[in-house]
Amino acid sequence: MRIAVVGTGYVGLVSGASFAKLGHSVVCIDTNRSKIDQLKRGRIPIYEPGLQELVQQGAVARRLTFTSDVKSGLRQAQVVFICVGTPLGQHGGLADLSFVYDAAAMIAAHLRSFAVIATKSTVPVGTGEEIEAIIRKAVPNDNFAVVSNPEFLREGSAIEDFLRPNRIVIGTDHEEAGAVMRRLYAPLCADGAPLVLTSRRTAEMIKYAANAFLATKIAFVGELADLCERSGADIEEVAHGIGLDNRIGANFLRTGPGYGGSCFPKDTLSLLATAQQHNTRMRILETVVAVNQARKHAMVDKIVEACGGAVEGKTIAVLGLTFKADTDDMREAASLTILPALESLGAQIRSYDPAGMEQASKLLPSVRMATGVYECAEAADVLLILTEWAQFKTLDFELLKQVLRGKTIVDLRNLYQPASIASYGFTYVSLGRAAAGAIRPAIPQRPRGKRRRRNDGITIIATPPS
Ligand code: NAD
Repeated sequence: MRIAVVGTGYVGLVSGASFAKLGHSVVCIDTNRSKIDQLKRGRIPIYEPGLQELVQQGAVARRLTFTSDVKSGLRQAQVVFICVGTPLGQHGGLADLSFVYDAAAMIAAHLRSFAVIATKSTVPVGTGEEIEAIIRKAVPNDNFAVVSNPEFLREGSAIEDFLRPNRIVIGTDHEEAGAVMRRLYAPLCADGAPLVLTSRRTAEMIKYAANAFLATKIAFVGELADLCERSGADIEEVAHGIGLDNRIGANFLRTGPGYGGSCFPKDTLSLLATAQQHNTRMRILETVVAVNQARKHAMVDKIVEACGGAVEGKTIAVLGLTFKADTDDMREAASLTILPALESLGAQIRSYDPAGMEQASKLLPSVRMATGVYECAEAADVLLILTEWAQFKTLDFELLKQVLRGKTIVDLRNLYQPASIASYGFTYVSLGRAAAGAIRPAIPQRPRGKRRRRNDGITIIATPPS
């Protein structure tokens, strides 16, 4: 089939290259000319494992091309994917849909024969109707159908996620459009990918619901880690123990500095704003958002405490800047909150990230970038692990002992066993686990005082003045 992809970012480029691999003929369109020029020269503007090879294969097979000329890009398309950004809006958390609406108007101006317009961008429930209305202004006959086809790929494993999805969601009541979409994804369905065929509004909601639920797991496990730390339990083993229960599942149960990235922060806020528009509340999600914001600041306190109560004049070597491993994406990365906070307390930051330094240096201009792990650690007082890149899981601690000035390692990704790091003479601070050699916390005394049970079942204990 002939496909046009409008918006050649993380989602658009991976989708386009993957559809080309499936045998379709794909034109990727972007208004960012320099991005298109790079792609035409074979340069991939983002870091995503395997993408370079996939794009190259598609180009060599002449099934994948790039253009910023919308008219020629859309000329013969049977399916047009909208893959533009939907960043956090200015007003109350609602997604900024201006790129989506601009893309819709642009598509409408160049549609010549029947085409399915499939929205992969994450958009609030009801946006499909808006897109349809925009296109109808320019294409009055029913020469098009607007379908929701949300994308669930994760940066870092985007190609695998696209080509072996847990499910494909298609939202439409339009019979012909549904048939076209089924044909498009037939190779993946033949490989066993389940297809969820539903209404457009339901498909739009599935995407937000999935992200909100995963964000909830992350926030939950973060708070659980705090309790484990104080009570002498081990969060890694607790997470393993609960994750084996297939009603819960093992994914997204890793503790860390809270969720970040281009999706969860904006999508949770957008879903809350949608709830507000519909006069309903999502109190669990409200709490998740608040817990996540507080967590990044709590991480700053933890680092300061690990540094003996003050970071003024200290050099902190930071490993990892991106919001997670295997991407160069810096959107809503924990480093963007934590590092400026440490700097404002007087710390000097030196950092190394395998893929994110180009992006990060624009956002964190005062952070000095190093060319490797050990140069970063040279004469630093503290080593801070912020992102779980594979190369940070195999650090040479003998070498670190020689280059680091201090003896403290703060690991906000729990990459190591506390006892093994302590054996090198380091003080190792991680999340949700007792520090190596720490004395098991005492069981707290049952609080004394008068007990009163509230209507909601919570017992309040009035502690007598000491
Ligand atoms: P991105 O910012 O990486 O890419 C968007 C691209 O769209 C940019 O290259 C921009 O130049 C281009 N663009 C903007 N307006 C355009 C127009 N009118 N015509 C052509 N091109 C235009 O965004 P992304 O991370 O790929 O996300 C795209 C959408 O997919 C968002 O709604 C996001 O929430 C959703 N999503 C993202 C991911 C992810 O992991 N990044 C996963 C699933 C869904």
